[in-house]
Amino acid sequence: MSNATNKLPKLFIPGPVDISPETYQAMCQPMIGHRGGDFEALYASIQPGLKQIFGTERPVYLSTSSAWGVMEGAIRNLVQKKVLNLCCGAFSDKWYGVSQSCGKEAEKIQVEWGEAISPDAVREKLSEGGFDTVTLVHNETSTGVMNDLAGIAAVVNEFPDVLLVVDTVSSLSAVPIEMDKLGIDVVLAGVQKAFALPPGLAVFAISEAALERASTTEGRGYYFDFLEFDKNAAKNNTPSTPAIALLYALKQQVDSFLEEGLENRYARHEKLNGMIHAWLEKHGFEHFAPEGYRSKTLTTIANNKDIDVAAFIKALREKYNFLINGGYGKIKGTTFRISNMGNETEATMTELIDALDDVLPEFL
Ligand SMILES: *Cc1c(COP(=O)(O)O)cnc(C)c1O
Repeated sequence: MSNATNKLPKLFIPGPVDISPETYQAMCQPMIGHRGGDFEALYASIQPGLKQIFGTERPVYLSTSSAWGVMEGAIRNLVQKKVLNLCCGAFSDKWYGVSQSCGKEAEKIQVEWGEAISPDAVREKLSEGGFDTVTLVHNETSTGVMNDLAGIAAVVNEFPDVLLVVDTVSSLSAVPIEMDKLGIDVVLAGVQKAFALPPGLAVFAISEAALERASTTEGRGYYFDFLEFDKNAAKNNTPSTPAIALLYALKQQVDSFLEEGLENRYARHEKLNGMIHAWLEKHGFEHFAPEGYRSKTLTTIANNKDIDVAAFIKALREKYNFLINGGYGKIKGTTFRISNMGNETEATMTELIDALDDVLPEFL
């Protein structure tokens, strides 16, 4: 399974990220039926840790899907009048399109890629009236911008009939997220990024207000029906057959987060992220994201030195078998991205930085 033997590169891309041997091992446990005590015990055993990570007293639901399943599900469950999509990069921009494709009335606040969403702009837009839901991508994995979650949540909470849905795919467990304290109505994440699990599972929690809203929304469908998740969660179960091997892995990872200590985990991410910041500054590269809004889990580096990004990445892979990412969507080539999510340590980041230092000069 090790990357060295199968020649697949060690991943420093912002998702999927590198998986630990302990996680793979956890997945290789005997299969169990999901309508029985063994499964319910497994499900229940993960809840306390997940609640801590989400900062919530609410149940945390497990969806056998990638994050988009729940992102679309939130639109289908919650939007009755009109949704405001806050757009600042590839994932948040796409959410606006998904709202429309669900047949919902949607408007957006669009900022340039590389900028953050301003809470004041959200207040101004919501003041126009007619909205019942807002979507926010906390950590825009494409641009490396981390939005002001507390500031935006406070503004949305000035409008009591408006629900706030937050994508924390690349931030949950790596930085503190206080769902209940901030008054967020939906927090969701896929597990292949900050959680460092193989893809195929999403975790999410919803407020009582969101559950109440969903109960009167028509056309929720079945697979992502929030009421189905809630009904089953009361029995430590899921609406349909879950990815049980991934739940074994989730249990192992959540336990490992708690063993490390969440505060230590947050501090580790901040420190490793700082190592990449120091690297790019040392070489005269610029940050794509503005100061004060930089992600702690990945770095989007502006290619102000105009290197051949694709060739640089190829050389890094050929010589060291490390993979970084060459920029997402329309900023491909003009940026590149390095992840410090998941299980990375000072040692693995140092190895990467030494390799980057070695390979970079021939591209300058
Ligand atoms: C990766 C990512 C997604 C999409 O996740 P899928 O697993 O493709 O559904 C959504 N939002 C953010 C911020 C992401 O980084």
